[in-house]
Amino acid sequence: MVKEAVKHLEPYVPELTLDQLKKKVGLDKLVRLSANENAFGTSPDVAKALDKWHYQNANLYPDSNAEELREIIATQFDIKPDKLIFGNGLDEIIELLSRVLLEPGDEVLDPEPTFSEYALHSAIEGAKLKSVALDESGTIDLKAMVCAVTPKTKMVWICNPNNPTGTFLEADAIRSFIADIPASVTVIVDEAYIDFTGNPKDSAIGLTDEFSNLVVLRTFSKAYGLANFRVGFAVCSEPLIGYLQAVRLPYNLSTFAEIAATAAFKDQAFVAATVKKVIEERKKWEHFLIKSGLPFYDSATNFIFFQVKGGDADELHKFLLENGYLLRNGLRKGWLRVTIGKPEANAAVQKLISKFLAI
Ligand SMILES: *Cc1c(COP(=O)(O)O)cnc(C)c1O
Repeated sequence: MVKEAVKHLEPYVPELTLDQLKKKVGLDKLVRLSANENAFGTSPDVAKALDKWHYQNANLYPDSNAEELREIIATQFDIKPDKLIFGNGLDEIIELLSRVLLEPGDEVLDPEPTFSEYALHSAIEGAKLKSVALDESGTIDLKAMVCAVTPKTKMVWICNPNNPTGTFLEADAIRSFIADIPASVTVIVDEAYIDFTGNPKDSAIGLTDEFSNLVVLRTFSKAYGLANFRVGFAVCSEPLIGYLQAVRLPYNLSTFAEIAATAAFKDQAFVAATVKKVIEERKKWEHFLIKSGLPFYDSATNFIFFQVKGGDADELHKFLLENGYLLRNGLRKGWLRVTIGKPEANAAVQKLISKFLAI
């Protein structure tokens, strides 16, 4: 029979493809603003690089070490190349960390609410998850997280900026937090959205030399617009990096994924342009929400989490979907998360919200 922990799992509910979704709701046009994908696409260099690949090589295994990608990332962040481990999306790295670090009965800490995959993989390993409420501003309460550590705690998840609230902690705050955590506890800082703060100094990657119990995560799925190619990576020091490498599946990234990520990473101008547009549109969203009297958290990301005050969130979600826009529902009762889209989409959704709430 299956292991006890798996019998009680509530699996992650993935997005339908756009085509499946259009069919389901009977629409020709649908804009997905529920998965925090990059509304501004992908660097055009990605397609150019992929076109150069020779299909005759399909019979050969990919480069297990992702050498070229490793080198350019290590250079950019000024770290040793062997501090990097790549995954089939960050999802795989989250799974790998849980698999390597957790035994049944261990405790794991995460904020509440946050990205649901941390809880899923803790559960699969039979660990006990303790979730610590965010503070009133929707920010991770680092003091409360330190207090929640017990001798059984093995891992602490810090999603920075946090999904779904979008709130962000400065590198200094992260630094003093790690200093307060026992060295036997691994702290994982998930920086899936850090590019959207617009300031590279915000990253905790620079702290991985100082703290061997720190792991910093990055993905190509959001600011780099490569969600379909499944590339994420972790930065950490010995000895943990060695154990992670030993457990990682040897050919977890396809050559396609490596080529795409390498081309995307080289085109930092595309990322900068995306971030600029997202920040502009995020400001317009904030302005709209303030004007409409809808509470929201201060977001440093490509999404905003807001409360449907004066209306029913489920009904608004349905109304927007019927009009061709899918937002994320079900993360907190009465709240919706919207991915910052293209200007036309944002304006259209805002108009529909006003219409629905009659404001
Ligand atoms: C999207 C997301 C990920 C997963 O990214 P992939 O690389 O696509 O697997 C990880 N963490 C957070 C917080 C995310 O929102």
